[in-house]
Amino acid sequence: MNAKKNEVGKLASATSGRPGFSRRDLLKSAAFLGGSAALAGQVPGFLAGLAEGRTDYLAPEVDYPLAKPEQILYSVCQQCNTQCGIKAKIQNGIVAKIDGNPFSPWNLTPHLPYKTSPFITAAVDGLLCPKGQAGVQAAYDPYRIVKVLKRAGKRGEGKWITIPFDQAIDEIVKGGYLFKHVAGEENRKVDGLKTIRALEDAKLTREMADDVAKIWKKEMTVAEFKEKHKSRLHLLIDPNHPDLGPKNNQFVFMSGRMKGGRGDLVGRFVKDSFGSVNAHGHTTVCQGSLYFTGKAMSEQYLLDEKELKYKWTGGKKFYWQADTEKSEFILFVGASPFEGNYGPTNRAGRITNGMIDGRLKIAVVDPRLSKTAAKAWKWVPITGNLTGAMPLG
Ligand code: SF4
Repeated sequence: MNAKKNEVGKLASATSGRPGFSRRDLLKSAAFLGGSAALAGQVPGFLAGLAEGRTDYLAPEVDYPLAKPEQILYSVCQQCNTQCGIKAKIQNGIVAKIDGNPFSPWNLTPHLPYKTSPFITAAVDGLLCPKGQAGVQAAYDPYRIVKVLKRAGKRGEGKWITIPFDQAIDEIVKGGYLFKHVAGEENRKVDGLKTIRALEDAKLTREMADDVAKIWKKEMTVAEFKEKHKSRLHLLIDPNHPDLGPKNNQFVFMSGRMKGGRGDLVGRFVKDSFGSVNAHGHTTVCQGSLYFTGKAMSEQYLLDEKELKYKWTGGKKFYWQADTEKSEFILFVGASPFEGNYGPTNRAGRITNGMIDGRLKIAVVDPRLSKTAAKAWKWVPITGNLTGAMPLG
């Protein structure tokens, strides 16, 4: 272990630009870094950076406490929906600094091979935007909610008490007179999840759902449905509206962004296990516009071979993005990739490199002189009512 540390130490000092550093030392260290021809072959940009004497990939000293492998936790930034890879550097049990995870292609180009030793990775930092680095403040914000809050006043009054986690689970599952302490709600009984999960038979659930589909297709009337399922109508939210489904649907799970497997977990719990259809995420206006642009760009006018007529396919809902690595001209409309917009980490470097070496020109349409607009070849500060006219022109 010490031998490895020493080698990393050599590497760090070899690239620190201090007096006495020779190209020979660097090549020796780079050969260690590669460990094998495979690594050298897979991270040419990284090694090329080292050969140029660049130090920005590396922590300054291996003895720097935050560059020790045992002080680092690899995780994911949740400060925005880009979800960059991060390395959280721990000192005395607290996160002292967050940097980019060099294994993540989003944070280092090219990223380190996954087999790279943690002793090397510890001294290599990927990129991270300021918002990501502010994750330390988010984690230790004194106003961060870390306990279960229960309403202690009328809705909207902003009065809360904290309750133990076990009590919260108990109340949510069993229900009861949960708000006796709130004036006017002393006698209000709240159903718990146990009561709401009224329909537990999967086969019966399927059968009733199929019959609701028949009502929609006008193959069955509501009266016929009620007659067929008369012994089970108490399981429904409203027997006169079987389309609302079983009481189970009264459990609604509203989430923020659900990616990286969380959506699957929530779906298994809410839908497959609890039997409610109501697991809903959300999207944003900016993401919605991205989707619809992507759909419009991939829209096809194709022959429907069954109907023998041409039809629009509807396009694909996908995160279409400009190829900032190879493009020669990019027009950003209302987007500022140097500040946000799906990860400055991945794009700022590619755009900057392109602008420096003359490959890329960018123009920005934005009433605001954003950071991206400030660096652009052209800034077009038109206001909202002209952004439709501009592309038409
Ligand atoms: S772009 Fe910034 S805020 Fe978003 S995930 Fe990456 S580091 Fe975090």
